[in-house]
Amino acid sequence: MRFGAHVSAAGSVALAPGRAAELELETFQFFSRPPQGGRVKPISKEQADEFKAAMAEHSFDTCYIHAPYIINLASKEARIRGNSIEILKTELERANALGVKAVMFHPGSASSVGSEEKGEELVIEGIREIMKGYRGEALLLVEVSAGAGMVVGAKFDQVGRILDKAKHPKLACCLDTAHIFASGYDLRTDNAVKETMNEFDRHIGFDRLILSHLNDSKVALGERKDRHEHIGEGHIGLKGFEALFSHPVIKKLDLVLETEHDRISEDIKAIKKLREKVTGQ
Ligand SMILES: [Zn+2]
Ligand SMILES: [Zn+2]
Repeated sequence: MRFGAHVSAAGSVALAPGRAAELELETFQFFSRPPQGGRVKPISKEQADEFKAAMAEHSFDTCYIHAPYIINLASKEARIRGNSIEILKTELERANALGVKAVMFHPGSASSVGSEEKGEELVIEGIREIMKGYRGEALLLVEVSAGAGMVVGAKFDQVGRILDKAKHPKLACCLDTAHIFASGYDLRTDNAVKETMNEFDRHIGFDRLILSHLNDSKVALGERKDRHEHIGEGHIGLKGFEALFSHPVIKKLDLVLETEHDRISEDIKAIKKLREKVTGQ
């Protein structure tokens, strides 16, 4: 169990490892470009070397890239789908240039096509296009969503179908505790965590689980809204995170905070304390 958080790469991607080290993290994620979109220049050899040197300097061996939020593979508009495919291809290239382990993305919303089934088909088609001929090392992770509106990927069976049908050895999955809780998967007790994780395994498979975002939830179980809360202050609560950290599969994962940055140090302290309680380390 390694802890990370989302850190800023403002100014230069090579600044991200230092910022993560300052927070005493064990891994981290960042945006490799402005999250709202826009064009980017390819990563130069110099930038890549600088980034790798900063990783080594701060003793990180793994980190992750979060893809921009504007991605929507389930849009009715061919232009938006095409742009989303282009961005994800580029993010994978950038991850490979920097030696980043994986890129996670939100599949998108089917509201413009009017049916979740159609949205699911478009997401599968889009991922196939992204992974066509892909030879890189970096993984592409479909992030399980909270399920507001017609968002694709809020249920494990749907994510499982997407991964099965778009099948590629570098395609896997990213959980988010706040998202799955809002989507109706309980995490508040040992039993609830066990059931939720069994359900995940049945539809997606533990072998395809690479990391989880670690957020408490401002909304109640099944309320289908994506609202992150500081650890222990939301509806999952400290008991829920303790149950989660006790699960044998979660114990082996990278867990990345995406809570508001103003009090991120408190969140890091809280999860480290819980880990100590659960694992004695
Ligand atoms: Zn995300
Ligand atoms: Zn979220």
